[in-house]
Amino acid sequence: MRTGSTPAIVLRTREFGESDKIVTVLSRSEGKFTGIAKGAKRSRRRFAGTLEIFAHVDLAYRQKSETALCFLERAILIRPWRRLVTSLERYGAASHVVELADKMTADREVGDEIYALVVAALAQLDERPPSATTLRLFELAALAASGYRQDFERCAVCRDTLCGGGLRVPFSGTGLVCRRCADREQGGAGISDAAVALLVRLQAGVEQGFPSDDTRFDATATFADEEAIEADTSPRLASELRRAVATLLEPHVRGRLRALDSIRALHTAG
Ligand SMILES: [Zn+2]
Repeated sequence: MRTGSTPAIVLRTREFGESDKIVTVLSRSEGKFTGIAKGAKRSRRRFAGTLEIFAHVDLAYRQKSETALCFLERAILIRPWRRLVTSLERYGAASHVVELADKMTADREVGDEIYALVVAALAQLDERPPSATTLRLFELAALAASGYRQDFERCAVCRDTLCGGGLRVPFSGTGLVCRRCADREQGGAGISDAAVALLVRLQAGVEQGFPSDDTRFDATATFADEEAIEADTSPRLASELRRAVATLLEPHVRGRLRALDSIRALHTAG
């Protein structure tokens, strides 16, 4: 029997039977895993309403073997989010963050960078007015944390320096390609020079979190220039960036991302 405890973010939950809950978390030391919280719906002492989506908890668990179902013993709230559920916009953005983290990671794949990024992105969405720039920085940093670091200054195929005009983001998700290589890549969409300039600034933000020397990964540094980038992003450029980064993400995400679509549909309906 193995027992342990780890800080974690609740990615999703579902009711199980009369009083239990099945909970999937992204943890700092054990990666993503799913466990059963026996009596979660009744026990105020062990869980006290902590097993809800986005919750940042310190989780105690018990497991018989690597393959057996994990039992969640107790959860203590590390930090309450005050605003994430107070508006549809914040809730939608936070849902996108946890959904992306869920669909980009495999069970027990340990990587404390992605965990730290999710915590930093949720904190950002809780503290500041939610912005599309927060989500783009998170998406590009999540790609980098998963080994798909982008370089928007060089062609992803021939590695030549990109110098504007006729650049494309192919559906293969390889990255930005130059006009010459674009002819050989299948599908994808053209991208304006103004959007490429913003991608370069977003990636510079991501690089601040992943310093090239041996200093530790700092997820909050990722969002340091968010306000300045947001101020220079028109609504038209914002949707161009959303589509471009979505194309880069697609090959690395299991299934379709739904959180933002459903929130957008609600806005249109309302
Ligand atoms: Zn090229």
